[in-house]
Amino acid sequence: MIARVEPLTRTRAFRGPFDYRLAPGQEHVGVGSVLRVPFGRQRSLAVVVELAERSELAPERLAEPDEVLPVSIPADLVELAAWMAREYCSTVARSLSLTLAPGAAEGMRAKRSLVAELTPAGRQALADEGARLTAPQRVLLEALERGGATVAAELGTESLRRLETRGLARLEPRVRPRRPVKRVVGTAAVLAPKLTSDQRGVLEALLRALRDGEPPVEGFLLHGVTGSGKTEVYLHAVQAVLAAGRSAIVLVPEIALTPQVLGRFQARFGDVVAVLHSALSLGERHDEWLRLRTGEARVCVGPRSAVFAPLSDLGLIIVDEEHESSYKHEGDPRYDARSVARRRAAQAGAVLVVGSATPRPESMLAMTRLRLPERVDRRPLPAVEVLDMRGRHQPLHPETAMALADLRRAGGKAIVLLNRRGWSNFLSCRACGRVWMCPQCEVALVLHRHGEFVACHHCGHREPVPSRCGACASVSVARHGAGTERIEQELREALGGNGFPIFRLDADSTTLEDRAGTLQRFGDADSGVLVGTQMVAKGHDFPDVSLGVVIDADQTLRFPDFRAEERTFALVTQLAGRTGRGASAGRVLVQTLAPDARSIGFATRHDSDGFVADELGRREILRYPPYAALIRVVCSAQEEPLAREVADAMAAELAPIASTVLGPAPLFRLRGRARTQLVVKATDRRGAIEAVGRAVDRVAPDAAKRGASVSVDVDPQ
Ligand code: ADP
Ligand code: ZN
Ligand code: ZN
Repeated sequence: MIARVEPLTRTRAFRGPFDYRLAPGQEHVGVGSVLRVPFGRQRSLAVVVELAERSELAPERLAEPDEVLPVSIPADLVELAAWMAREYCSTVARSLSLTLAPGAAEGMRAKRSLVAELTPAGRQALADEGARLTAPQRVLLEALERGGATVAAELGTESLRRLETRGLARLEPRVRPRRPVKRVVGTAAVLAPKLTSDQRGVLEALLRALRDGEPPVEGFLLHGVTGSGKTEVYLHAVQAVLAAGRSAIVLVPEIALTPQVLGRFQARFGDVVAVLHSALSLGERHDEWLRLRTGEARVCVGPRSAVFAPLSDLGLIIVDEEHESSYKHEGDPRYDARSVARRRAAQAGAVLVVGSATPRPESMLAMTRLRLPERVDRRPLPAVEVLDMRGRHQPLHPETAMALADLRRAGGKAIVLLNRRGWSNFLSCRACGRVWMCPQCEVALVLHRHGEFVACHHCGHREPVPSRCGACASVSVARHGAGTERIEQELREALGGNGFPIFRLDADSTTLEDRAGTLQRFGDADSGVLVGTQMVAKGHDFPDVSLGVVIDADQTLRFPDFRAEERTFALVTQLAGRTGRGASAGRVLVQTLAPDARSIGFATRHDSDGFVADELGRREILRYPPYAALIRVVCSAQEEPLAREVADAMAAELAPIASTVLGPAPLFRLRGRARTQLVVKATDRRGAIEAVGRAVDRVAPDAAKRGASVSVDVDPQ
């Protein structure tokens, strides 16, 4: 028997599949089996993509795999990986490596521990007063009687060994899955509440699609305002899927920032829920993956990579907060978990549901929409007021300062959003105007006051705060703009002390644990302010937040990106969504230099239908997604001319195809590399992807030899 395999190498140069002859004892190998094979002069992991009776190669040229690894990939994920390779102009090998069991490449195995148990003789000895037992031995046997099978090391392996030789205890190694610690933040409703009639209507539509087995190809969009009970609908739908003996995947933007959703699934379904995310140890991830693979767990909750959960009989895939850009993977392949979810659902005959209060225009256009137009209990959405910041020099508008002071007196809670971390935006020399730049990246360095250093937010470069200008030696350095650190400090000075805590949440919070801890402390506090970047606007559910503030709402508008309006609308609306979820009505203040911006106007009216209709109109005229596909090609090299040359070669390859090619245009240097980009805009998406794929195959190998690289981003974010 011949196994066709894809060796898991990073390079594009070796395109599989390659044939290997299975050795005696390897007959159980099938599609998805993971092998260790001799490859060139090395050993490589490889995944079987096909079995064949014979090979084109002469028998003496066929090597045999060294080893078959114990955990295989489900065959349908092999097919999904092949699709991803095509869809994102990547390779099958790179796509397959995303579907491997965590730790497989490192030789991770299930963990075995020595477990002790009482024997019938041991039980008898305990009952028999006259048995020859020392007091410590009696205590040990009693512990085993009470606790059942116990990890030997917890009681003392040596003493247990002595009991074993007398036949009173039995010791044997057993597989003990490493289980992540459960952490439940916020209000976890264990009992399912009675659904509202709107929720029932939505659930009925989902259950009908599950029963009929013919869900809409593009999936369902659950468009529900913040706090309308979307998560509750997901929980009911998963319940129905489990009852039908099938399994479900629930994608969330980032576990550490939205632990409440995971908490609710764990509280409702217990051990049948597995969680996969990067904050777990490799061992825990490996074992959670195995629980899914064996069917012990049938619901997987996790971020974008959980779309590859090794579940069989998949009935449902949920994508929560579908507007979040974290669903896009920035490594190669640059997959979009939302598109992969659609493909996987179609493959498995599963129902796809994506949910949001601020759906993407793409989803509004293509998907079957289900609405939850009101908050649960008909609580009103908060009033949103726009504060004009033109001509003002303080970071806080007087109206904002007053609202915060009132809140402090009343002992309430507020969330303050500023989408810029650090202390101030950039530094410049007052004498000659020079701006402090990153030596690697051609972007301004940001001041971080706590460490008294300046840092690059692209590459992490750091240097001490300059005391004088390197160009003109002036000692007068100006600091521009405010970041989260500075706002935190201002708030502390104006409001802090006396048990009114100020919490900060941004990417400078070092670990994921830190971030979850900050959210927990804010949730537990009686009053206080949470200040931070867009992280504070994610789907948290704190019932007692009555004030939301957006400082510099134009920050996202100024991005030179066709999604700038969409991002701004989502950010303001999502922050409003965190506000007024409890008994008290909420209020949201939006400080902006562009009070007339469309996105901000629609957000004040909570009008996502109006916003998307308007946005779709604009995109149709400009031929932007969803009316055309975009593919971004970035060519990079140490030196600018080479990056440019490679981009020109790509442009020449792409010119004959009937779509628009924008560029080559220079980008700012990043991590010491010059970059040039091309953007392909096409109505024939399939054709454009194939054309770009062919062009990369022709240009990239030669470019790589000269130290240049080409990266492709289909549907860039
Ligand atoms: P969303 O996901 O749309 O933001 P959630 O499902 O988190 O909304 O619901 C918001 C709040 O309302 C949660 O605290 C949830 O427990 C509660 N809730 C949801 N559905 C109901 C219901 N039918 N009856 C009572 N409370 C509900
Ligand atoms: Zn100067
Ligand atoms: Zn840098």
